[in-house]
Amino acid sequence: MLYRKVPKTGDSLSILGFGCMRLPLTRAHIIDEERTIHLIRYAIDNGVNYLDTAPAYHLGRSEPLVGRALADGYREKVRIATKLPPWSVRTRNDMDHILEDQLVKLKTDHIDYYLLHSLAKESWDTMLHLGVLEFLDHAKRFGKIINAGFSFHGNLATFREIVDAYDWEFCQIQYNFLDELNQAGTEGLKYAASKRLAVMVMEPLRGGSLAGHVPVQVDKIWREAPVRRTPAEWGLRFVWDHPEVTVVLSGMNQEAQIVENITVAGEAWPGSLAPGELALIARVRDTYTSLMKVGCTGCGYCMPCPAGVNIPECFALYNGASMFGNRREYAFHYLTRHGGITGDRSYAGLCRNCGRCEKICPQHLPIPAGLKEVSTSMEGRTFGAKVSVLQCGLWIIDRAGRLVRIFSRKPNEGDTADQEKITS
Ligand code: SF4
Ligand code: SF4
Repeated sequence: MLYRKVPKTGDSLSILGFGCMRLPLTRAHIIDEERTIHLIRYAIDNGVNYLDTAPAYHLGRSEPLVGRALADGYREKVRIATKLPPWSVRTRNDMDHILEDQLVKLKTDHIDYYLLHSLAKESWDTMLHLGVLEFLDHAKRFGKIINAGFSFHGNLATFREIVDAYDWEFCQIQYNFLDELNQAGTEGLKYAASKRLAVMVMEPLRGGSLAGHVPVQVDKIWREAPVRRTPAEWGLRFVWDHPEVTVVLSGMNQEAQIVENITVAGEAWPGSLAPGELALIARVRDTYTSLMKVGCTGCGYCMPCPAGVNIPECFALYNGASMFGNRREYAFHYLTRHGGITGDRSYAGLCRNCGRCEKICPQHLPIPAGLKEVSTSMEGRTFGAKVSVLQCGLWIIDRAGRLVRIFSRKPNEGDTADQEKITS
């Protein structure tokens, strides 16, 4: 594992940080606690010393789980990063209460790296007005937070304004080879570093869409490289190649991912990519840009939707159909997942155009318009009829003579059954 220093303090952080926003889930859609704790501890045992969580992750379940994962002496081996959610703050006192609650959930007496979560112009102005800088000073003075920072999803001008407004130790930006000109972008990265801020990078693989099963056009370009690397490795190396980057957060929810990322993090020196490799990455970026329909990162901030639309998943399947060229397969997944077959109805056509999600989206996506496109492309006029037929027809009699619905309704938190069974 390589380590990089926080410029203002000299703290030495692993270049790979463990992001706790996309933890492994059980079939019942709850965090797989045993597996998650194993993964977190494996990462720490192999050199990772930075863990990033937030009250918003996994509907509030990420922080307490991190607290449990860091029992048995693991707390002392890592820096914890967590965040103040501006959307939950109405008064200056709320900030203190939220922080106290986080200390309890994380089973610690201090937060090493504390961020104002997902700032953009509006939320920054509101937080300033509510006295957030005094809150940070106060919490630091009493040792409840050690380093102050902010995560960011606004535009470059706001980013510069926030960087200049306080003596931050660090910031956290979305950065990957598709986002060089988006949000803070490369210019913001360099600006923060010039002000001696450590820069933590989130979404290095755009919510996983730059890794795993990549489009054939992209795969063809990666195969031209003289050195064989997985798409995930290319994506991470691109970010680590920048000396201004301190930590790259990866939401690792599979054993193989962790092993791969830790291996790469042992040799990803800044400036180590050759000009030919950077040119290859630029071609991949141009190819993705031409294939993706909606620039959704799957962060889930827009959820829940009052009409029940699963916004990130609808966009993911729409993008998948466009990028991977297998529209029929994606349309089938869309029908079964969002048509009320394997879960509640959550398809794009349910959108009532209330605009709530659009105000929250860190990518500033025109979500209702995008969902209209998804609905036209993935649903069509026969969608409702298909849903009705499938919902009526997918019941079978099992060997024990019970009537079993072979597609399960998505269980609620705490449910363990993955099939809805009725004794006949
Ligand atoms: S605009 Fe549509 S998708 Fe967005 S929150 Fe409202 S109903 Fe849901
Ligand atoms: S639509 Fe926006 S807020 Fe919702 S998941 Fe996508 S990027 Fe995140």
